[in-house]
Parts: sequence; C-alpha cells; structure tokens
Amino acid sequence: MASGTYDIITIGGGLGGAALAKVMAEHGARVLVLEREKQFKDRIRGEGLGPWGVAELQALGLYDLLRETCGHEVPWGDIYLDSLQIAHRDMVATSPQQAPLFTFPHPAMQEVMLQAAEDAGATVQRGASVREVQPGTMPTVGVERDGHSKTLQARLIVGADGRSSLVRKWARFTVQQDPEGLLIGGVLFADMALPSEDVLPWWINSRLSQETLFFPLGQGRVRAYLGYHRQANPARLQGEKDLPRFIEESIRTGAPAEYYKGARAIGPLAMFEGADTWVDHPYKDGVVLIGDAASASDPSWGQGLSLTARDVRVLRDHLLAHEDWDAAGHAYAAEHDWHYGVIHRLDNWMQEVFLKYGPEAEARRARVFPLIAQDGTRVPDHVACGPEVPADETARRRFFGEE
Ligand SMILES: Cc1cc2nc3c(=O)[nH]c(=O)nc-3n(C[C@H](O)[C@H](O)[C@H](O)COP(=O)(O)OP(=O)(O)OC[C@H]3O[C@@H](n4cnc5c(N)ncnc54)[C@H](O)[C@@H]3O)c2cc1C
Repeated sequence: MASGTYDIITIGGGLGGAALAKVMAEHGARVLVLEREKQFKDRIRGEGLGPWGVAELQALGLYDLLRETCGHEVPWGDIYLDSLQIAHRDMVATSPQQAPLFTFPHPAMQEVMLQAAEDAGATVQRGASVREVQPGTMPTVGVERDGHSKTLQARLIVGADGRSSLVRKWARFTVQQDPEGLLIGGVLFADMALPSEDVLPWWINSRLSQETLFFPLGQGRVRAYLGYHRQANPARLQGEKDLPRFIEESIRTGAPAEYYKGARAIGPLAMFEGADTWVDHPYKDGVVLIGDAASASDPSWGQGLSLTARDVRVLRDHLLAHEDWDAAGHAYAAEHDWHYGVIHRLDNWMQEVFLKYGPEAEARRARVFPLIAQDGTRVPDHVACGPEVPADETARRRFFGEE
C-alpha cells in the first residue's frame, strides 16, 4: 500500500466519523480520521439519546465505553403538555429496547470516541482541515494540516462533516431542505435545581408553539434547550446578552422558575434552524455520507445522534458483507433513505400537531388533544423507539384524529 492510501478516510471526527473508524478498524480496515478541531469546544450539539439510540450504540459495542467514561443514564422521561403532566415514563420498562435515556457532554463524547478509534487501530489526525474531495473509483481528499497540503486516496471516502457538510458540495450531491419551521437553542448550566438527575423533563406549550427540555448530564450539569416556531417568535437568541430572554421564555413555556435559581451558564447560547436538510441516496462514486451530512434532522425531536449511530451500523454491516464497496455504498444509501425517511415524516407530524403556529393548527389541536388525553398511544413513539414504529397513513390518521 502506498503511504497516503487507506481503505477508508472519514472526514470529521464526530460521533459518525469516529464510530465508523472504530468499528471498521476493529475489523482490520486501514482507516484515517481527519478532524479539523485540535480541541473540542461546546458547539451546542446533541447530548441525549432515546432507547433506540442506546440500542444502536450497544450494537456498535460503544455503549458501555461511553457509559463508563462520560455518559449518564436517565431512567425517567416526564412530559408536560400545556402545563399538564401527561407522562412520567419508566423508559426501561416501556421501550422495546428495554433501555433508558442516555446523555453525555458532546465534546467529552467526541474525545472518547476518537481515542477509541485510535485504540482500535485507526489513524486520527487532529487539526486536519479537508479542502477538497474528488469522487471516482479511487476517490481522493485534499487536506491541510500545520500549513502543509496533501492529497490522500482511499477505497471509500466518508463525509461525516456535520450539518454544514461541504463534502456534499464537493462530491456533487443535491441537498434538500424543508421549509423553515422551528428554531432551537441551548445552554449548558451548572447548579441548576432539577428535582432529580434521573428524570428528563420536557415541556411542550402548544399555545405558544414553544418547547423546553432539560437534559441532566450528571455531576450537576444540565443542558437546557428552548425551541419555538419562528412564526410565533422569530427572535434568534445568541450570546450572553440574550441569556435572560432564554430563561424568561423557558419559564413562560412551563419550566419551573426554581430550576434557574442559582443556575450558572457554563457554555455559550446559540440558536439553530430546525428545518431538516438531507441528501437522497447518500452514496455515489466512492463517497458516502453519514450522520448530519447525510441528513440533519430537526434537533427539536432529539433524533440526530440515534440516526447517526444507525447510519454507522448499517454502513458497517454492508461494508463487511460486500467485497464490492460500490455495491455496499448503494445498499447503505437505500437503507438510509428508509430509516431517515420514517423519522423525518414522524418528526414533521409532531411539529404539525404540537408546535405549528396559526388558527388551522389550533383547530386541529382542539380536535386531537382530547383524543390523546384518552389514549396516549395515538402519539407516534419514534422519539423513544425509532423508525420501526407505525408510520403509515393509518398511523397518521390516528394521530391527527381523522379516522
Ligand atoms: C441545537 C442542537 C441540539 C441537538 N440536540 C440533539 C439531541 O438532543 N439528541 C440528538 O440525538 N441529536 C441532537 N442534535 C443533533 C446531533 O448533534 C447530531 O445529529 C450529531 O452530532 C451528528 O453527528 P455527526 O458526527 O454527523 O456530526 P458532528 O457532530 O457535527 O461532527 C462533525 C465533525 O466534522 C468536523 N469537520 C467539519 N468539517 C470538516 C472538514 N472540512 N475537515 C475536517 N473536519 C471537519 C467537525 O469539526 C466535527 O467534529 C442536536 C443538534 C443541534 C444543532
């Protein structure tokens, strides 16, 4: 093998790139991870998975490692709809995966995952910024590190470069985008007075088209999120100056004001566009996309990490099953279209019913909420259980009260 030639090069060392590197290096593949950050800072990225994401991490052999290093198990999920508590849910007892919710500080998770990739035999280069990708039968990557430029080759290039992926552009994929809908932002707090680190509380205030969630991360740290429909509230909160407004809006949404007494922000505040972006069939010409590069789902529903872990598992399984990695790439892409497609459809239903703004949405809620109060199984359970839940027209009519 010429130096600079690998089986796999992953562009990005987030959950997607690092996990794929680890699981493929374990099977003897020569893997290189190119990650531009030398040190990870708080980018306000996903820090909590539902039971189906836990099961994906388990299938990849990553769950115990994360739990023992930086993770925190949260056995209970509480949901409040318009101030009324509608669920106090034992996640292990009520999920088919028999698993809890699971949280971690995102930068710590990335460090653990990259170390695990290296321990499995992958080469990890930090401070390595990819500038170009050339697709083809032996695709190449142009990378800059410490002021030097290099071109590297691999059998397969993996675009795992996140929600603003440039690999998509370089490899000439077409990016699709939903219409603008929700905005969502978050802040990391210390000393927040949550009643317990064993419960993840989630308030949905449909009258305001707003939601707020609190992810206990262990050791007294909590990631607080606030999301809203941009037609109800177009303010894009950003930076220290907007912190009082973030807290005020969270309390207005339903969160107890006591949570914030004595709480200290220990990370930045930033708000993001919720609208999904995705690529149909995210493989061509030796370049495959995984994680947010393939499909960045609306963070409001907390599915991105689980989808990323699913992408890694599906791609690994096809790479191990096929001698021909072009065929493996196409097989992965077809499966990706299915699992992302279901989550995307169900997330959009959730937005329509719970957070959409305007008189039509209010009329729908007047019809649907009493039905949900009688029978909570009308609400799709994909946030906990993943894409295997019913998502056909019958399920939609049941949720929308149109039978
Ligand atoms: C506000 C917000 C809240 C969220 N909350 C949740 C949640 O509660 N639960 C959940 O499951 N998901 C959540 N998500 C989504 C979750 O963060 C993502 O789905 C997940 O991080 C995707 O992982 P990834 O590896 O694909 O990308 P990333 O984590 O973005 O990693 C990409 C990596 O690529 C590197 N990179 C980028 N470009 C280059 C380049 N040119 N060269 C080299 N390296 C490069 C970056 O530095 C980065 O380390 C949230 C997202 C946002 C924005």
